[in-house]
Amino acid sequence: MSEVPTGASPNYDVAIVGAGPIGIELAVCLQQAGVRYIHFDAQQIGYTMTWWPRNTNFFSTTERLAIAGVPIQNNHQQRITGEDYLAYLRGVVEQFDLAINSYEPVTQIARDGEGFVLETAPLAGARRYRARRVVVALGDMQWPNKIGVPGEDLPHVSHYFRDPHDYFRRRLLIVGGKNSAAEAALRCWRAGAEVTISYRRPRLDSQRIKHWLLPDLEAQIEAGVIGFLPSTVVQEITPTHVLMAPTDGGAPFAHPTDFVLLNTGFHGDQSLLRMAGVELVGENRVPVFDPATMETNVPGLYLAGTVAAGVQQRYTLFIENCHEHAGKITQALTGRWPARLGGVASRNYELAFEQIQAN
Ligand SMILES: Cc1cc2nc3c(=O)[nH]c(=O)nc-3n(C[C@H](O)[C@H](O)[C@H](O)COP(=O)(O)OP(=O)(O)OC[C@H]3O[C@@H](n4cnc5c(N)ncnc54)[C@H](O)[C@@H]3O)c2cc1C
Repeated sequence: MSEVPTGASPNYDVAIVGAGPIGIELAVCLQQAGVRYIHFDAQQIGYTMTWWPRNTNFFSTTERLAIAGVPIQNNHQQRITGEDYLAYLRGVVEQFDLAINSYEPVTQIARDGEGFVLETAPLAGARRYRARRVVVALGDMQWPNKIGVPGEDLPHVSHYFRDPHDYFRRRLLIVGGKNSAAEAALRCWRAGAEVTISYRRPRLDSQRIKHWLLPDLEAQIEAGVIGFLPSTVVQEITPTHVLMAPTDGGAPFAHPTDFVLLNTGFHGDQSLLRMAGVELVGENRVPVFDPATMETNVPGLYLAGTVAAGVQQRYTLFIENCHEHAGKITQALTGRWPARLGGVASRNYELAFEQIQAN
């Protein structure tokens, strides 16, 4: 391993792991406070938004997504897409001239005396860095939730909805009954696909589908232009069909299809947290941390962003209620609340919770 020697430069006050919106917001706060930090992302900045379906709008409104006190402007004053937000994040990074080691995944975090040693794996060999404190801001969506059936890894099966165009004039089976499945079904049907939804429950989940999508989808199902297989689970996927089992014990049947989209959600990679000794508790494996400072049970190791929620079954942390993480960490490290933070950070975000429950 080609190593930067420990004990010599580079030694940093803080290492930030993850350059999503909250990691970037924290970087601005630390830069403005004069903290000597280093920042890594395993991919490009804002990576999570890069694999969203093309042209997907945020549910959150712009003032709630804005970071580091930089307003999001557009020419329509409506919700923005993931692509818009990536352009905005690039602008913030340029405005503050933030140094971010993109394409440098952190592979290990270990305690070392007063601080930590981080090992990374950039394209050219491995590296090692020392930092007194570490902030983990790596989100909660690294891996798709697999359904664990034969055929799940076939080439016509995906957990990622990329673009409705892919399914033009082809048969598509969408597995799932929440917002992402509903949105994908409507978009693909309108783009000319022959769409069927399979859901393990008898009805679509009205609590978790955007309120303007549900009546639209129900109307298309009623009209028979989008197929709906309620109370069914996938048993096996083959190149030509999907073997479905009714949950009421009925006889399994084969559903012919060209493509299968598994809208079964995502979960975070908690291996770095475990490696560093962070305790993960409960069904959702929520990291143990002090909500006043975001410091975990490992002294000097902090959490920022949605990683703090553990494996979210039902989303409770979003960009809009994570801005304050950057504030709390900056205050804990420097003794001062940062001047620049997301527009509505830390104020009245319960309202946002309610609004976004359906997302
Ligand atoms: C279709 C869709 C719609 C959504 N709509 C909304 C919405 O309306 N409002 C909302 O608030 N949220 C929404 N979300 C969720 C949103 O994506 C997350 O809330 C947001 O990305 C969390 O920000 P974050 O900074 O905590 O983490 P992320 O944005 O996930 O950033 C984490 C970063 O860490 C990096 N990373 C991971 N592992 C490592 C490693 N080992 N080393 C270095 N870097 C690493 C990743 O590459 C990534 O860039 C939506 C998600 C989807 C899929």
